[in-house]
Amino acid sequence: MPAEEVAEVPVEVVSEVVLTGSGQGFGGQIPVEVIMDSDNKIKAITIGEHNESAGISDGAIDNMPGRIIENQSLMVDTVSGATTSSKGILSAVENALVSGGYDVADFKTEVAKEEITKTNETLHTDIVIIGAGGAGLTAAIEATQAGKDVIIVEKMSFAGGNTLKATGGMNATETSVQAAENIPDTVETFVKDTIKGGYELNDVELVNKMAEESAEAIDWLASIDAPLVQLSFSGGATYSRIHQPEGGEPVGAFLVEHLLDEAEELGIEIMYNTEATQIVMEDGVASGILANSEAVDYMIDSEAVILASGGFGANEEMYASYKPELEGFVTTNHPGATGDGISMAQEVGAGLTDIEQIQIHPTVHQGTSIMVTEGVRGDGGILVNQSGKRFTNELLTRDVVSAAEIAQDGGFAYVIFDQFLREHLGATETYIKSGIAVQADTIEELAEMIEIDPATLANTLKTWNEAVANKNDAEFSRSTGMEHDLSSPPYYAVKVSPGVHHTMGGVSINPDAEVLTAEGDVIPGLFAAGEVVGGVHGGNRLGGNAVADIIVFGRVAAQSANDYIAE
Ligand code: ADP
Repeated sequence: MPAEEVAEVPVEVVSEVVLTGSGQGFGGQIPVEVIMDSDNKIKAITIGEHNESAGISDGAIDNMPGRIIENQSLMVDTVSGATTSSKGILSAVENALVSGGYDVADFKTEVAKEEITKTNETLHTDIVIIGAGGAGLTAAIEATQAGKDVIIVEKMSFAGGNTLKATGGMNATETSVQAAENIPDTVETFVKDTIKGGYELNDVELVNKMAEESAEAIDWLASIDAPLVQLSFSGGATYSRIHQPEGGEPVGAFLVEHLLDEAEELGIEIMYNTEATQIVMEDGVASGILANSEAVDYMIDSEAVILASGGFGANEEMYASYKPELEGFVTTNHPGATGDGISMAQEVGAGLTDIEQIQIHPTVHQGTSIMVTEGVRGDGGILVNQSGKRFTNELLTRDVVSAAEIAQDGGFAYVIFDQFLREHLGATETYIKSGIAVQADTIEELAEMIEIDPATLANTLKTWNEAVANKNDAEFSRSTGMEHDLSSPPYYAVKVSPGVHHTMGGVSINPDAEVLTAEGDVIPGLFAAGEVVGGVHGGNRLGGNAVADIIVFGRVAAQSANDYIAE
């Protein structure tokens, strides 16, 4: 063969293989597309449209594909706080591999753990805030707007805490939104409802503060591009008082997104995966915190400390120690709600208020712990038992509705709603997408799907719709949430039971959000806001008051810390 002639060697082109699979996450199936290269290695993983909770699942969605590809293994660690979503992604990839005929054992190799040498760092700031939930973010924004330097430490890989899970809305009174609808609500009525709902156990001064500042808090939210412009009824409220984002979108995710945007714009530093372990006191004054991440032990020196670390609804040992009958209950809380802030505050002498007051929420889907918002009942939904009958005024306080449910056969109920309600209340989409809602074109079909006698359920709906038309619920004297009947198909049902929802007790504060000792003395430099605090809600929290609490007292804590620093 002459030198210049080049032989044509046939090149074997092995193209990449594209596989698909899905795995069960928190909010339903998570679909993935997996690309295998010519060496049978995982080259890329793309996660398709899913219904995992915004914020909470972000760590898993962002990190799991990279971890799997880097290690070529399904034995990688799950992302803390997002375990269910992480496992959903792992099983989706495994299913994809199986569908392509790959031997999964090849991808189940042990992953070596990285050795980390810890270092020490000291940081300085005006105000250090423990927790990047609703209260912490609000406090950080308010303090930064007043010119203070702020650091937030957040032990999870995401911001938002339990706030992310709030679906209903924010109670507020004498607001421009209410005025536009001529609703004759007042601070006095808001206070009265809250104290009645809380069995008069509430700290009246704290309730007054929350109600008085609530309208301004709504304006403040609008000023940071988080307007709550739609009204609904919530259990225990005399008037339509719960303020929601337009379209009834779940309030928590909406607020966290906008608070985070504002925090970013203001250049607020949030140290994720960093857990506060101790409040540091110097001569009886809070002067910073100790915190740690995987790689660093921090001493954060500050002029003031704001505790915004939330409640302990995800710490079964702790809630069962205060209320033994709650042992074994599911929780609606995010995994970081472990009550660390309460122990840290106690260590520096803080008193506790109403610590044994723990709220259960009546409408929690047990398999997924997804909570069906009170807004569904507030907008016209009803509860029926397995016999297909209503058994309570659905908008009584949460403890009363929960107790009524526990008294039914099996201790559960079905929340029933219709298409009109679905379209009016964006929060319902979660129940449909996650697969916890059963759907049917007629009431009778719906009844069959949930094994209720069709004629009985149809009759219950007929009686209810007449009650709505006549504005007279002869059976259970319900008088709110009766603007719309249940007559637009398709119809929906979600099976629910009570679950641990809100820990109403916590650290004692005064109306300036200053932390108090058991004797009622102020601990200088230490402020607290949100679910970590006790006293606002008394023996039972009304729906819509958690968000009012975090926004109002988040701002108050920052204002008081600012004043304290200026003194
Ligand atoms: P609130 O509604 O009072 O703002 P959230 O539950 O929304 O309460 O937020 C509290 C936040 O505090 C959560 O994001 C939680 O992970 C965080 N947190 C709890 N304990 C600690 C801790 N020890 N260090 C840092 N962050 C913490």
